[in-house]
Amino acid sequence: MKSNKAGETVKTTSLPRVTKLKKGDRVKQITGKIKTNAATIGTVKEIDTKNGRVLVEGLNLVKRHSKGNPVKNTPAGIITKEAAIHVSNVLLVCPKCLKPTRIGYKILEARKENGKINKVRICRRCHEQIDD
Ligand SMILES: [Zn+2]
Repeated sequence: MKSNKAGETVKTTSLPRVTKLKKGDRVKQITGKIKTNAATIGTVKEIDTKNGRVLVEGLNLVKRHSKGNPVKNTPAGIITKEAAIHVSNVLLVCPKCLKPTRIGYKILEARKENGKINKVRICRRCHEQIDD
């Protein structure tokens, strides 16, 4: 849920789902610019649904030259930071079988407390539930 300038709640559920990933998921980068010896597994820090990209901790590192910003307390010099990766370039690492997998959904018979359908993400490899 996001709020607009007027402070009203804007429904985001009607937007097409760009990714089944969530913040905190462990993902593996499968394609794209992967440097030799670079890490390919990291944790999702941010999801950019507009551009279909995810920011993954420790992955897709780029060097930026920074002049420094005393207000934000950022140092000058060359800084290494993560660049967002397109969602199609990463796969979720299943917490159960520890393999990179595509995500499926399972609808649970028991509904949520608010009466809504309880849909959970499942691993397409081991079919285990990913979320609690
Ligand atoms: Zn699995």
